[in-house]
Amino acid sequence: MTERMEEAVEAALAALDPRGRTFRVEARGYRWEPLQALRPDGPPLKPSDFMASVTHDLAGRRMNLAWRRRFIEPLTATIDYAEIVAGDGGYITGPDVALGPVPARPMTSDRVAAVRKQQWMLHPPLLVGDALTRRAAGEAGALRQLADETLDGAAHAVVEIAAVPRPMRLFLDRATWYPTRLVTQEHDHPRGDVEVAVRYAIWRDHGGLPVAADVELSLDGTVIHAEIRSLAEAMTEVAPDLFALPESHPHDPELALRGLVNAQWMHRALAMGAPISLDPGTVAVQEITPEVVTLGGGIHHSMAVHAEGGLIVLDPPQHEARSRAVIDALAERWPGVPITHLVLTHHHHDHSGGLRAYAAVGAELVVAEGDRRFVERVLSSPHMIQPDSLSAADVTPRITTVGDGALTLGGGAVSVHRITSPHCAEDLVVYLTGPKLLFNADLFNPGLVPDEAAAPPYWLIYSKDLRRQIEALDLDIGWLVGAHGSLDGRPYQSLIDFTERHGGL
Ligand SMILES: [Zn+2]
Repeated sequence: MTERMEEAVEAALAALDPRGRTFRVEARGYRWEPLQALRPDGPPLKPSDFMASVTHDLAGRRMNLAWRRRFIEPLTATIDYAEIVAGDGGYITGPDVALGPVPARPMTSDRVAAVRKQQWMLHPPLLVGDALTRRAAGEAGALRQLADETLDGAAHAVVEIAAVPRPMRLFLDRATWYPTRLVTQEHDHPRGDVEVAVRYAIWRDHGGLPVAADVELSLDGTVIHAEIRSLAEAMTEVAPDLFALPESHPHDPELALRGLVNAQWMHRALAMGAPISLDPGTVAVQEITPEVVTLGGGIHHSMAVHAEGGLIVLDPPQHEARSRAVIDALAERWPGVPITHLVLTHHHHDHSGGLRAYAAVGAELVVAEGDRRFVERVLSSPHMIQPDSLSAADVTPRITTVGDGALTLGGGAVSVHRITSPHCAEDLVVYLTGPKLLFNADLFNPGLVPDEAAAPPYWLIYSKDLRRQIEALDLDIGWLVGAHGSLDGRPYQSLIDFTERHGGL
């Protein structure tokens, strides 16, 4: 059974379908990250730019994406690698991140799904060609026409394409019959259901192959990926090994689904140059004192302090699954002791993604004054695509903000201080009176950079600034632990040494 569509719409879709043709597109572009900005509502960070040469063989379900990515901030590096997808398998030909790079390897099914999804969204002929094939194979509802809409004053025919986790709506300009926009929804850990939209402009016909030269992908209205295509060509022959997978993992449908639900979360991590982490990971508990532990295992750590009244947790990194694993580890170490407070160091998505799990267990959320609105939005935003523990919990989250005065918690065991940084306008650093320890996130990562190594330029800027900021707090600091770096931390002197070794303040 197929849904009836207007003839002109059928013709427009048929004209987009690449059918058996293999084509190559060269592009240059940028990525932006709204949840790594200086302020939650500020202009997004531009972490990287790229050059890409992509070759697509839709009929063979194959693609080769050759990337050169240049990381701009906070990491600085240039890397070259290719992503190859063939059928349900995929392969990455070299290190694809700047932080903790790993060599060539097969793609997991979530990566395969996320890579293919983004390419299909950036190239509507692939999306449409696939939907037409699915309809021809008898998939009911693969494509259907919705009521017309007006975009930028122009009448558009609207076609809905069945997709996971939400259908995609493709808007065809009735004057040109080219797509100008695509809209769907995905999951973002702190913000829940988010709109992912693509805008297409300057369509050109390349020997019967339609390609948009100017494409922008946005997340909840903020452009996060822009690319300009300088060349598009139909290829009569390709190198025999272009789509060859040296090795591949078996298809895992559950992982593939996760890749479709979190596709932009994954691409955003890649654009930052950071490894993708969607698993809870193992929780390594490092004791600092019997009442203070670091909880590591991934590249982000939390800390917990057993104080008067309960547990105070510092930072909810990554996402719900990670927070749940940390909460479970704490329940094992201190059975029956409630988590009374969760301190959020700053709003960046890799540190705030697991915030809602702490609200769900009734912890009071301690945040910088400037992050209050962001946190309120995180707590109230619908998480329908991937419901989490807060979606199901019957709690009224409580927020306490920290301004210019320090906030004391746990009967004086902990004091929370707001500082500023070129990394993030408002950051909370946490002082533990007992071990004379200061916890920070991202500003100085104790033990991460070997003494003899060159200092990553932005880390050095952040570290020098942190030293000035905390010297002004006039605390008696003996020890430092970071949300990144060594689990047991380093003496305060390591910050002084690092900054002095590289030019001093
Ligand atoms: Zn950060």
